Amino acid sequence: MRQTIIAANWKMHKTLEEGLELAVAIKAHLQSAPTTDKIAILCTPYIHLFHMVETFREVDHIHVGAQNCHQELQGAYTGEISPQQLSAMGVPYVILGHSERRQYFGEDEALLKAKVDQALAQELQPIFCCGEPLEVRETDGHKALVKKQVEEALFHLSAEQIGEIVIAYEPVWAIGTGKVASPEQAQEMHAHIRQLVADHYGTATADKLSILYGGSVKPNNAADIFQQPDVDGGLIGGASLKAEDFTAIYQAG
Ligand code: PEP
Repeated sequence: MRQTIIAANWKMHKTLEEGLELAVAIKAHLQSAPTTDKIAILCTPYIHLFHMVETFREVDHIHVGAQNCHQELQGAYTGEISPQQLSAMGVPYVILGHSERRQYFGEDEALLKAKVDQALAQELQPIFCCGEPLEVRETDGHKALVKKQVEEALFHLSAEQIGEIVIAYEPVWAIGTGKVASPEQAQEMHAHIRQLVADHYGTATADKLSILYGGSVKPNNAADIFQQPDVDGGLIGGASLKAEDFTAIYQAG
């Protein structure tokens, strides 16, 4: 049985104080939530991470993640954070390839492949994001683009390594727009991704892979999306900034 994951992406929101308040509120809401085969991962700005690790140290089903990391272990890369620094601090997850990193920071598959490798080498689990912009969907190129993104960044990995990866399908046209993919659209792409993994690594590996949907998930649409057989949870942006909304989404998973 694969794990259901409800991950939060706080992006560049919350001061240190505001972030800690939100973390405490989420902890209070989720502490007694059911945990069987379901976890939350809070991916916060770097400034919160040390405190987040401390806050959730004793809570088995709430984990912490970063939103990016550099591809080198250490060095003269002013302003960057390495996977080694994250891992040594006790951070177990990192988002890689978010569409905002691709769009605003020029991250491509070659760079993401290097980041994935370095993250895994440092025992960080990547939450690898893929997804198509609107114009690609409108010309029916979405499946081919996602295939390229996944294959080029991930398919050099061993079967054991791919077992450490979480994939998040996030159609770019649904991120922060309020325009959510239909449950059928999400299911179709998730099944496609799982099939790609099955073709390359075998069905047993593909069956264990958690594939999350991201893009305008809210308390009122989460259950319909999460009920799809190949949707194993979500990556939540805007709605993760309110403890009540994030909790409601977690409970829908
Ligand atoms: C995201 O940025 O990963 C995301 C899914 O954002 P939102 O939920 O706000 O669309």
